[in-house]
Amino acid sequence: MAQYQAVRGVKDIFPEELAKWKYVEGVIHKLASFSGFQEIRIPIFEYTELFQRGIGRTTDIVGKEMFSFRSDPKGRSITLRPEMTAGVMRAVLQKNLLSSAPVHKFYYISELFRKERPQAGRQRQFSQFGAELLGVSSTVAVAEVISLMMQVFESLGINGLKLRVNSLGDMDDRCRYREALKAYFVPFYGIFDDSLRERCKSNPLRILDSKNLSIQEVITEAPKLYDYLSASSIQDFEEVLYYLTELGITYQIDHRLVRGLDYYCHTAFEVTSAELGAQDAIGGGGRYDGLAKEIGSSFDVPAVGFAVGMERLLITMEKQRLFATLNSKNTLVYVVLQQPDLECYAMQVAWQLRKAGITTEIDLAKRSVKAQMREANRIKSSYALFIGKTEVMTGLYSLKNLITSEQKTFSLEALLDILQSPIH
Ligand code: AMP
Repeated sequence: MAQYQAVRGVKDIFPEELAKWKYVEGVIHKLASFSGFQEIRIPIFEYTELFQRGIGRTTDIVGKEMFSFRSDPKGRSITLRPEMTAGVMRAVLQKNLLSSAPVHKFYYISELFRKERPQAGRQRQFSQFGAELLGVSSTVAVAEVISLMMQVFESLGINGLKLRVNSLGDMDDRCRYREALKAYFVPFYGIFDDSLRERCKSNPLRILDSKNLSIQEVITEAPKLYDYLSASSIQDFEEVLYYLTELGITYQIDHRLVRGLDYYCHTAFEVTSAELGAQDAIGGGGRYDGLAKEIGSSFDVPAVGFAVGMERLLITMEKQRLFATLNSKNTLVYVVLQQPDLECYAMQVAWQLRKAGITTEIDLAKRSVKAQMREANRIKSSYALFIGKTEVMTGLYSLKNLITSEQKTFSLEALLDILQSPIH
């Protein structure tokens, strides 16, 4: 075993796997920009307060513990970002972007860090792709964000995902509901443990998404948030549902879908994948109009966004065999040296091909012709280009199509023409 092992809960991504990431990332970049979202990159660490205000303030935000440290003994605490939303909002407020343009649409593909217990689909370093739409509170903005997320899934060919939506109403709606929920749970205190009882008092909404089976029975009969929504909150939700229907996006309303923090409001959504086992959430999001003020803004910034776990997206795609036709290393030409002393000449030919934009691989280990051919086939090269004394003397090269086994001789010029053409 190697002397040094990676830290628990992180993963190395080797080229074959990386090809899948790049393919998925390519689709995300394309679709996000088609919808007018621009990529944003923000620092990997921030002052801890940003996240403590944002997500860690309530101690029951289990599973989102943070990696924090001090850069020097007296320095302020710094935290590796456990989410992107607070950082994006901080960046936008810091640059005062909303004063120049009222609406901003950002997307990202970024690494996050959470001190969770690692298991399948749950890592300590993982990636999310997500989008944040800041500055408008319209229901069409919510639909815009959800449709981008669903379009990415659809373009990647993923099947069987389930989109659940709910409305969290506004602050007043939730206050009324929270009281009703607290009262409902009191008779069950006897079967709850201490931490659950504590949560009932501090943040009873968080109990609704508990995975504990005995609690789920209790939850089934609990009051529904929907029954506590004001008329305008109901109208807001119905508009979102109308847009989703019109856009052909299939959804289910799930009254148990909640987000326990006050800065969330109105529409919340989550997507699950049956391929994922216990950790079945592939992505989720919602409106978070209250976040800006929580992180020090003097004015409200209406906002909506989502985040999708890249690893879980890739696991789902792998299970659905969506990478089956993806060629991880699409080498077009493998330059086969017939004599080792022609290395330098072969290198020059390879460079000419590469300069012309033709993917070219060359033997670096002075292997026999047979071994080079084996390697060319192993890396799924389309052609072998032979370099021997005759080629050097005549300037004519034998090109073998490794799929059809057909072999022909060409000048360098003709070679470049053929290999650059989209059909060859
Ligand atoms: P959240 O930011 O908690 O709403 O998570 C959004 C998505 O990120 C989830 O639906 C998962 O797909 C993914 N995710 C969250 N935590 C982890 C983790 N520890 N490891 C891998 N993926 C995660």
